Amino acid sequence: MAIETKEQFLERMMAEERPRCPVCNQEMEIWEVPPITFSDGLGWGTPYLFVCFNNDCPTYVQGWEHIESNYGYRASYRNVCYPFTNKFETMPVFSEQGGLGQIVTGETIAEQERVKEATKRGFYLLAEYYTTKSWYEVLLMLMDAAEPAKVRLKAAEIIGDIGDIEAIEPLKNHNFGNEILNKAAEEAVAKIHERNFTRECPFCAEIIKKRARVCKHCGKEIG
Ligand SMILES: [Zn+2]
Ligand SMILES: [Zn+2]
Repeated sequence: MAIETKEQFLERMMAEERPRCPVCNQEMEIWEVPPITFSDGLGWGTPYLFVCFNNDCPTYVQGWEHIESNYGYRASYRNVCYPFTNKFETMPVFSEQGGLGQIVTGETIAEQERVKEATKRGFYLLAEYYTTKSWYEVLLMLMDAAEPAKVRLKAAEIIGDIGDIEAIEPLKNHNFGNEILNKAAEEAVAKIHERNFTRECPFCAEIIKKRARVCKHCGKEIG
């Protein structure tokens, strides 16, 4: 099987019907496995698990007493199910909130869907703008922080290919708030210069012909 990203795994998991807790019959939640394991130290072998977070689940209710009297510390169990299997197990939890922070809620799923849709739409628009050489529209998308990062990166690439000299100023002066995007914008500027046989005057930073010996803006001689 091809290597799958965590995201793809989650998508596949979300497409499945959620299992029910074998003890209380409540539908289980998708839970992101924490980076630090607290079970046997061997890791879970999966990025997500199904977990019963029902506080009235007998496993959980009785777990406190069971662990307290057998092992002498405060903890309980939650029932878990390994995705794509019918394997159920228990995992230790140390408080009522234990693990709750990592539940993949409907909100997370909705946000993921939103980004997916926005990315699809963004790429579609960029393809259109590329065909019609509408570099200004592409520039606006690149500067729009609400666009998904993937779309903005693609926009930077396209600006390098179709951008006019006029695109250089905004590309240079805008802080994209992110190293990768700032670098992509820099590369776009370099590509625009190359296509137009221009460069930046080292003294006044105005755009001049690549082969100019004297800057037409500041009059300085350029080596
Ligand atoms: Zn349960
Ligand atoms: Zn100059």
